[in-house]
Amino acid sequence: MDPRALKEGIVSGRLDADALSAGFADLHAPLTDHEALVAADRCYFCHDAPCITACPTDIDIPLFIRQIATGTPEAAAKTILTQNIMGGMCARVCPTETLCEQACVREKAEGEPVQIGRLQRYATDTLMAQGVHPFSRAASTGKRIAVVGAGPAGLSCAHRLAMHGHDVVVFDARPKAGGLNEYGIAAYKSTEDFAAREVDWLLQIGGIEIRNNMALGRDVTMADLQSEYDAVFLGMGLGGVNALTAPGADKEGVLDAVDFIADLRQTTDLGSLPVGRDVVVIGGGMTAVDAAVQSKLLGALNVTIVYRRGRDRMNASVWEQELAAAKGVRIITNASPVAVHGNGAVREIEFEFTDDDLNPTEQTFRLAADQVFKAIGQTLTGDDLPDLDGRKIAVTGPGRTSVKGVWAGGDCAAGGEDLTVTAVAEGRDAAEDIHAALMRA
Ligand SMILES: Cc1cc2nc3c(=O)[nH]c(=O)nc-3n(C[C@H](O)[C@H](O)[C@H](O)COP(=O)(O)OP(=O)(O)OC[C@H]3O[C@@H](n4cnc5c(N)ncnc54)[C@H](O)[C@@H]3O)c2cc1C
Ligand code: SF4
Repeated sequence: MDPRALKEGIVSGRLDADALSAGFADLHAPLTDHEALVAADRCYFCHDAPCITACPTDIDIPLFIRQIATGTPEAAAKTILTQNIMGGMCARVCPTETLCEQACVREKAEGEPVQIGRLQRYATDTLMAQGVHPFSRAASTGKRIAVVGAGPAGLSCAHRLAMHGHDVVVFDARPKAGGLNEYGIAAYKSTEDFAAREVDWLLQIGGIEIRNNMALGRDVTMADLQSEYDAVFLGMGLGGVNALTAPGADKEGVLDAVDFIADLRQTTDLGSLPVGRDVVVIGGGMTAVDAAVQSKLLGALNVTIVYRRGRDRMNASVWEQELAAAKGVRIITNASPVAVHGNGAVREIEFEFTDDDLNPTEQTFRLAADQVFKAIGQTLTGDDLPDLDGRKIAVTGPGRTSVKGVWAGGDCAAGGEDLTVTAVAEGRDAAEDIHAALMRA
């Protein structure tokens, strides 16, 4: 075995450049023209197609597949993008195995769905490669709308508003637009700088100004936005992370998974990123799987996900769990962290087995760990926000908040799953409602 893999501690350069680029290559290679035709041919073009109902953005899936089958992928792309302006990213990151492809009648009949996600990518990539933006703006309405957050929710909202002829200013706290598409999604799902390319393509509609490094609550206030703009859309996602309460959680080497993933997404040299030899990830969602798989791909020797409930309660889909296992990640369930051990830096982490109701069993075990990633959920941050429902912004209908003239959508809003596609749908629907409200006024 390569001695670099065995080195204790958090170090860079565990793998050579070839191994890194092979590991981080596109998870699903794009379909060729011929493969797309063959895949499209499997669709029954169902009446009342269950795949449409299962799609949070209601894409007319049989229609776009038929357009591919008849050799017009550009028309297919327009069908997709009309409903979901980030159809390119969603084709890469949607858990299709729990959405459209799970609902596909061929999945039910044969255990082999039509490859809807890959066909969607084929269509949208074809159009985007031509640099074509198939939408144009309506005549100017003279209305100005502030959008907070340039993630999927904010950008989807901004695009739909711009199409209706409004002028949109998007404020984002980070230096780059895209939200978690840019800073969170696993690197092997969004290769070749796709997130940034999609933002540039989306902005071709015109009428959208993005102001980066501008945070609500720091550089601009809600009162500023309400007085200067005709409406406000909040799409700031979940900026905080839940804390690990086990004693010793402040030791060196205990890190937030989302920060590790953001560094990974932003680096131009994966070989320079340090990773532990023995990595433990605490959590059961996509963030946990992504942190674990990417640690392994950086060359960590032992990577273990530990989740406090049973596998069936994990937020990561079965497909993602299998992906982690295929990459050599071990998953331990029904165990909660009780202490982090080490002298300054973490050396071991101790867990106690729990039952499904999280009752302790007094049975403990320890795992060697020189790096621990916390992936135990994100939280809404910020003051001066509309009323909350639990820990998120309360909304009714298409994103209306408790404050007149203020809408919200995506991860920061209550209800709905925390998925890219849901954020896009909520941004779009709020934009339609904002448009209707402004045109009535
Ligand atoms: C590690 C990870 C992996 C994921 N993988 C997947 C996946 O594979 N598939 C999937 O469907 N979903 C995935 N998700 C979930 C998905 O990324 C989110 O549901 C989606 O990005 C939510 O979009 P959003 O626009 O609501 O928020 P975000 O994408 O979080 O965007 C919010 C934006 O608001 C900005 N912002 C925050 N606070 C402020 C402020 N005060 N002022 C101004 N701007 C602010 C942020 O900088 C950010 O750009 C993943 C999430 C994580 C964390
Ligand atoms: S359910 Fe499957 S076969 Fe039917 S229209 Fe949708 S993709 Fe095609």
